[in-house]
Amino acid sequence: MLKEMKTSLEGIDIRFNEPLKKYTYTKVGGPADFLAFPRNRYELARIVKFANKHDLPWMVLGNASNLIVRDGGIRGFVIMFDKLNSVTVDGYVIEAEAGSNLIETTKVAQYHSLTGFEFACGIPGSIGGAVFMNAGAYGGEISHILISAQVLTRDGEIKTVEARDMRFGYRRSAFQDNKEVVISAKFSLKPGDYTVISQEMQRLNHLRALKQPLEHPSCGSVFKRPMGHFAGQLIMEANLMGHRIGGVEVSKKHAGFMVNIDNGSAKNYEDLIADVIRRVKENSGVTLEPEVRIIGEKEIQAEDA
Ligand SMILES: Cc1cc2nc3c(=O)[nH]c(=O)nc-3n(C[C@H](O)[C@H](O)[C@H](O)COP(=O)(O)OP(=O)(O)OC[C@H]3O[C@@H](n4cnc5c(N)ncnc54)[C@H](O)[C@@H]3O)c2cc1C
Repeated sequence: MLKEMKTSLEGIDIRFNEPLKKYTYTKVGGPADFLAFPRNRYELARIVKFANKHDLPWMVLGNASNLIVRDGGIRGFVIMFDKLNSVTVDGYVIEAEAGSNLIETTKVAQYHSLTGFEFACGIPGSIGGAVFMNAGAYGGEISHILISAQVLTRDGEIKTVEARDMRFGYRRSAFQDNKEVVISAKFSLKPGDYTVISQEMQRLNHLRALKQPLEHPSCGSVFKRPMGHFAGQLIMEANLMGHRIGGVEVSKKHAGFMVNIDNGSAKNYEDLIADVIRRVKENSGVTLEPEVRIIGEKEIQAEDA
């Protein structure tokens, strides 16, 4: 199969047994069997068709800023869109490929004096990951400005999906259920004033730097906001700031974040998440639900083998 892969996927940047901790924001995660970086959608379609033909699992990662890859890594293909990153502006519409950096895309909007994207100026995801997660901050979210997206079906076909058909909710989209892949997205913005847009982006980034532990690896807010509460507040009230398992601790700056301060592992993250959920439930009766996505295989421990 490896020989056939080399022939069928010749020319595509594929790395074998590649440690994903090199790419994740948390700096944890075992290896991907095959980590692929398609240069365009035709290379992407070739990878997907090859994987489907050989019954190999495949999945996509964006900037890996909202996930924990387990220490055993990911079997099959992991596809990253770093090379699919063009951004074009047509009037008040911005179209960005899935691998475009979300923060950089907000800067393109700023440069063209287009308003509506400021809320995302500090969210360190990719366009694809942001649509998938319906990323949001400071009252804005992707679904408010998205017009449509081009997506790749699990069979390798490309189609356009309108935003109204994406069943958006709080950090939810239809892509979390149907596993279709966002290839590019179109956003509708409004004409604005360059100085006002820039000041708003500066203000939001200043707020973020004040509150968030941006100096350490993390995956952003670990938990969704529970109805009627704030996850960070509940964690603080349970006296869990600074609570640590292995190299991962509940941030002392923002209780909703867990930071990898000393070579932590995915297992440390998972154990800490489970412990925080248990203790918050005991303290407040509220069950926290992770926002961060936990994927991949658990590492087999010697005693389990
Ligand atoms: C310091 C910090 C601050 C953050 N602040 C915020 C915030 O304010 N608001 C917020 O909403 N989030 C925030 N996040 C979380 C994260 O940045 C967002 O959820 C972001 O949208 C995730 O994008 P990503 O490309 O990194 O996705 P990844 O983490 O790579 O992937 C997340 C999920 O999306 C899927 N996915 C990725 N790309 C695609 C694609 N092209 N098509 C289909 N599925 C795809 C993946 O398979 C995975 O299941 C923060 C994270 C950090 C580390």
